[in-house]
Amino acid sequence: MSILQNGFPSLEEIRAANGWPSEERFAKGPVAIAECVQEIPCNPCEAACPMHAIQVGNPITNNPHINESLCTGCGMCVAACSGLAIFVVDKSYSDTLGKVSFPFEYLPLPEKGDEVDALDRSGSFVCKGVVTRVLNPARNDHTPVVTIEIPKEHVDEVRTIRRLNAAEPAVFTPVPDAEYIDDDVIVCRCEEVTAGQVRKAVREYAGESVTSIKRRVRCGMGLCQGKTCGKLVTRIIQEETGKKASEIPPATDRPPVRPVTFGALATAGKGEDDNG
Ligand code: SF4
Ligand code: SF4
Repeated sequence: MSILQNGFPSLEEIRAANGWPSEERFAKGPVAIAECVQEIPCNPCEAACPMHAIQVGNPITNNPHINESLCTGCGMCVAACSGLAIFVVDKSYSDTLGKVSFPFEYLPLPEKGDEVDALDRSGSFVCKGVVTRVLNPARNDHTPVVTIEIPKEHVDEVRTIRRLNAAEPAVFTPVPDAEYIDDDVIVCRCEEVTAGQVRKAVREYAGESVTSIKRRVRCGMGLCQGKTCGKLVTRIIQEETGKKASEIPPATDRPPVRPVTFGALATAGKGEDDNG
């Protein structure tokens, strides 16, 4: 319900859906927290954990649970999470400071030692923090993981940082004679996002890419992963900006892992798919 009302889950919903490490576990060192409360077909986190600490199981729409005893806080699941919903929290760092590691897909990346604004799940300022690590190896597939140290009392709230030197949004002039899709047409069936909501996001946030609109109004985050709405969102951006479709970057692919039968693999593209 909080996601619908506020755009992010409440602590109570996170605890109910995914569990929460005990204070005894927090005292032992860094530990991962999944903040994934929607029942979506997704499980890359399960395979990413070398300690087999994350369980999604069957059906694939289960919420993930992290076994706090098995988790070493290595952070490998943070970049692997398609929903950018896993964080590593370290409450054992010092008497006064804690650390939070989170995915950060914005440029420019911060550097170790930078003082940054630490934000909560809603994007509101919480406190100042200092970057202690930025990890961006090839295996992260363009999802850098940033770690910051902050006053310990804020580690349950802080989940990201303010973008650095974010460019001012460009001002777009709508194309006057474009053949508009009516505002009340649902373009994303999975998340029930209308053309009007997409158009408003393009105008308010100067959305230049399908990904930027996806982050604002959730189109493309549902079961079909943008198969239905991707082209329509591109078209609405075209209508609003006058750009060509080829100039509008598509959404980043985040395909969920889906069960595929051996029969389907063996006959891929050649014949029958038993799917049974
Ligand atoms: S932090 Fe490491 S050990 Fe813990 S759940 Fe994530 S991948 Fe597994
Ligand atoms: S990988 Fe998918 S299922 Fe796992 S925590 Fe992230 S969004 Fe949730």
